[in-house]
Amino acid sequence: MTSTAKADLRITDVIAHPLRAKLPQAQVTSQGDWPALDICVVEVRTDAGITGWGECLARSSSVAYAAIVERLLKPAVLGRDPLDAAALWRAMRRPLTGRTGGMQIEAIAGVDIALWDIAGKVAGLPLAKLLGGIGRTRVLAYASSINWGDDARAEAETRTAVARGFRSIKVKIGGPPAAAIRRAELIRKVAGDDLELSVDANWAFNVDEATLVGEALAALRYSWFEEPIAAEDIDGYARLRARTRVRLAAGESDFTVADARDLIATRSVGVIQPDVARSGGVSETRRIADLADAFHVAYCPHVGWSGAICAAASLQLAAYAPNFHAFECMVFDNPLREALLVSRAGSFQDLREGLSDVPQGPGLGVEIDRDALARYRAS
Ligand SMILES: [Mg+2]
Repeated sequence: MTSTAKADLRITDVIAHPLRAKLPQAQVTSQGDWPALDICVVEVRTDAGITGWGECLARSSSVAYAAIVERLLKPAVLGRDPLDAAALWRAMRRPLTGRTGGMQIEAIAGVDIALWDIAGKVAGLPLAKLLGGIGRTRVLAYASSINWGDDARAEAETRTAVARGFRSIKVKIGGPPAAAIRRAELIRKVAGDDLELSVDANWAFNVDEATLVGEALAALRYSWFEEPIAAEDIDGYARLRARTRVRLAAGESDFTVADARDLIATRSVGVIQPDVARSGGVSETRRIADLADAFHVAYCPHVGWSGAICAAASLQLAAYAPNFHAFECMVFDNPLREALLVSRAGSFQDLREGLSDVPQGPGLGVEIDRDALARYRAS
């Protein structure tokens, strides 16, 4: 393709694929049980025949996200140059006349990721290289997450993660604080002294409770304490930071670099965890990672219950960001992850020496199976 042709590239269609999958076994957090997952896959087509793939975090109604993508965002980008990602981000955000956040930003994330997939395919480069990355082709992966709930399941899941070669493991915890501390003690005993361990509370505590838990985690040499309190309580994070020695982590519940700025400016968190399928896509998540780097805060991309495209984009960002620490490798069987890929050889759970390979094809480096899109279609 000539450079003139690239300059003439135009978006011809934006198609949303709302998906739902029942999980073989419900995931259990401090906020309850999750027996099924939704994501919304976004397909952006161009007049050059290049198609980009994106994904919105959708959790419980991918059909609602599909309506936002096709009815609100598609008219803003149709006929535009897909390589002008910043201009298109602004155009898609414009209908939201209030404060930035919520489902619209998650929907924008899906389109934005697809635009960067197109840009990588046009350039013939994996996204990490297109962004001018730090040159990693493999990244540290941590096993996520050992379920809250009964001890026997948590212990079995921990043993499996260790056997698979993970060097870093994250454990779900919940209230009351004494139960959380008991679980942290159990997992340290099962995992041994050498593994990196972290916990995720999913907002289970107030500052006083989190102080008790945080001190125990520090004594047990846990690496980070994730979302100990409600995401909105930024002052609470600062108070908790002053009271505990354990490193605090947050960011998966936030949407933009402005949210990250407000949290990071308190100097309370040592790990920032934006989800590329929520935080406005590659454009905004890269800005969050860069901002965190300026404050010497580690970047750990959140993947959670997202699908294949979120995982691939997160690996590309992990390979890009100098301040990256660990990739969230979800160890439960999620049909919307590996089953969406054309080639099963590209499993996100295949580890070598505790590391995950970063896909090296152009763009996100993954191919989406259209039959799987039809098979998991939500209605
Ligand atoms: Mg979390």
